[in-house]
Amino acid sequence: MRAEPYPFPFCRPAPPPPDEWLRELEPSFAAGRFSNQGPAVVRLEEELTTRWAPEGRVAVTTASGTAALAAALLALEARGPVAMPSFTFAATASAVELAGCTPVLCDADATTWELDPGDAAAAVERHGCAAIVHVRAFGLCRSLDAIEDVAAAAGVPLVVDSAAAFAGRLPEGGLIGGAGDAEVVSFHATKAFCVGEGGAVLAGPDLAARVRAVANFGFDRERSPVLRGLNAKMSEPTAALGCALAPRFDAQLAARREAAAALGAAARAGGGTLAPHPGDPPWQGLPVLLEDRRRRDAALAALERAGVEARPYYTPALHEAPAYRGCADRELPVTSDLAQRIVVVPVYSDFTEDELATLCAAVEQALAA
Ligand SMILES: *Cc1c(COP(=O)(O)O)cnc(C)c1O
Repeated sequence: MRAEPYPFPFCRPAPPPPDEWLRELEPSFAAGRFSNQGPAVVRLEEELTTRWAPEGRVAVTTASGTAALAAALLALEARGPVAMPSFTFAATASAVELAGCTPVLCDADATTWELDPGDAAAAVERHGCAAIVHVRAFGLCRSLDAIEDVAAAAGVPLVVDSAAAFAGRLPEGGLIGGAGDAEVVSFHATKAFCVGEGGAVLAGPDLAARVRAVANFGFDRERSPVLRGLNAKMSEPTAALGCALAPRFDAQLAARREAAAALGAAARAGGGTLAPHPGDPPWQGLPVLLEDRRRRDAALAALERAGVEARPYYTPALHEAPAYRGCADRELPVTSDLAQRIVVVPVYSDFTEDELATLCAAVEQALAA
């Protein structure tokens, strides 16, 4: 561990300052409501739905992206094995288990870096899976037609972990959030729409109502648990932060996209490979694929020396991690390979021109090292 702070830490959250978001809490105090659809949560859900949900979907806020994913699976009443990628962040598997399901870890596709549809179909058949969880790796915004076809053919629900993809746009231009039965997003400090801790489920109105019930202990109007639930609700202070962030977020997104384009050009000049067909993501960070593990480790070490806190991702792959080793029934060679070769370079919402130029130069040099 490095003793002094990094000039370029892995993330540099840019939530609105207190004088802007504390005002957003005044209606909660006026109404004396601090939970269960308080005024800030209601306002934030309206903002998220209007601005960033695709046609036909509404946003239900949650305490985190992990809670959002668990709530979506519980609302769909998925029980039993669930096919999901091994190449993802640990929270995908935690959420599947929180929902009372068992992860069945599948391989990635070498070009998309995401769940291989053929492997998922085979796993569903072998294990009789109750659902499929797809992950938008690194928040990349690809078309998910192939995995949607697999879920439809198998007759199982599909939930998309789009934790890092909030407000992203697909290659055809539409907003993400409309795939499968639900997409879930995260508002964690490391994500683009940053309120510290928080998340949301984007679903059609009927499923959204069930998610809302699940997130409130599974209660119906008579406070009787009609669904297996949990407490997954967002707090009023968090929602107030989100309300203050919403009107500034498009500007932050534009800045992130501009920075990612410059960093991507630098990474390519240094010999790295970028994700093909990424759509227009919010760029939590910029993932770069290197030739092999040796090149990745050399790049990480060189970035560290340049004061850049880049991170290897998603590593170890879940099927190689102590907690989830038993969750794959065979080798997952594409996943094992990818997990050794990807570096994520920091992207901020508020780079100065000088900072971005310095970081681009450091990235190009470090990757070429
Ligand atoms: C960040 C992330 C999560 C977890 O979201 P939290 O809000 O931190 O719970 C889940 N899955 C993926 C792919 C993520 O990147």
